[in-house]
Amino acid sequence: MKELSELVRRNIWELKPYSSARDEYKGVKAEVFLDANENPYNKPINRYPDPLQEELKAVIAPLKGVAADRIFLGNGSDEAIDIVFRVFCHPGVDNVVAIDPTYGMYEVCADINDVEYRKVKFDSNFQFCADDLLSACDENTKVIFLCSPNNPSGNNLQREEIEKTLREFQGIVVVDEAYSDFSKKRPFRLDLDQYPNMVVLNTFSKAWGCAAIRLGMAFASQEIIALFNKVKYPYNVNKLTQEKAMETLSDLTKIHQRINMIVDARQSLMEAFAILPVCLKVYPTDANFFLAKVNDADKIYDYLVRNGIIVRNRNRVSLCGGCLRITIGTVEENTKLLSAMRKYR
Ligand SMILES: *Cc1c(COP(=O)(O)O)cnc(C)c1O
Repeated sequence: MKELSELVRRNIWELKPYSSARDEYKGVKAEVFLDANENPYNKPINRYPDPLQEELKAVIAPLKGVAADRIFLGNGSDEAIDIVFRVFCHPGVDNVVAIDPTYGMYEVCADINDVEYRKVKFDSNFQFCADDLLSACDENTKVIFLCSPNNPSGNNLQREEIEKTLREFQGIVVVDEAYSDFSKKRPFRLDLDQYPNMVVLNTFSKAWGCAAIRLGMAFASQEIIALFNKVKYPYNVNKLTQEKAMETLSDLTKIHQRINMIVDARQSLMEAFAILPVCLKVYPTDANFFLAKVNDADKIYDYLVRNGIIVRNRNRVSLCGGCLRITIGTVEENTKLLSAMRKYR
């Protein structure tokens, strides 16, 4: 890995961050707060929230096996993705490299930040070769984006290829593990010590069932997390979100039961879907969704919409021609999908 000071945009490296009222006082036990121009009435939401979400990070740290000072929390993983561009990529000059097809937000964020986005196509099994990615890089490539399990294909990427990318690429490697809780494979976030250039993304939106509260996580070295904290909006995670997250994490049994229910339902839904006459192929998955190749994706998609069932049409996505992406629902929802599909002519 290059020196961090070489990878980070100069203006960000030299940035003197905004110092909020809540940043400046710390430690002393106080009870009169006349520092932030807040309204003393309208409790409990009249006060600014903790800018660094320390209470919440203290709960997340042991759950994820990552020290609290290596955790960034943001308004969805989307904020973490955007902050990667804002910290590392000089607009109009730098570029990033990503596997293809993958999660659409990496490219949208690249476009918003005026950063060239280079795609390297998977093989037909949705796997990549580290050498292909590395040869798409040049001296202005700051970040490589990997997603494992990948969206929309659902599969884990080969560990050896991810490791090789992390070892040989001189810039930052983002490993988006939004779906890793549905997989039995060892997540990369546990190997942060080995890879100072790795940024792992996780989210409250999938396995933890909290898409509505918008809470994403990034795990990286203390130095990288400190840069993210410097660039983020001072109060990027609101108090209601922090509280709801704490409440959700207070019942881990329920979280794990639900993950198990989804993984069990995944198996039976995929088996039933695979034997439908219109189904040509069901791709292996390690996530809470699967990709299915059908004989007429557009027609089946429209048919399902008319029946009040929405799946994701991936027909026009590279390597996904003829494919629908189907999220695992409750047993009842999955049954509705299957019975509609059985009536399809
Ligand atoms: C759903 C998803 C996310 C989650 O994004 P949030 O902004 O945290 O809701 C992140 N990465 C991938 C690949 C996803 O599919």
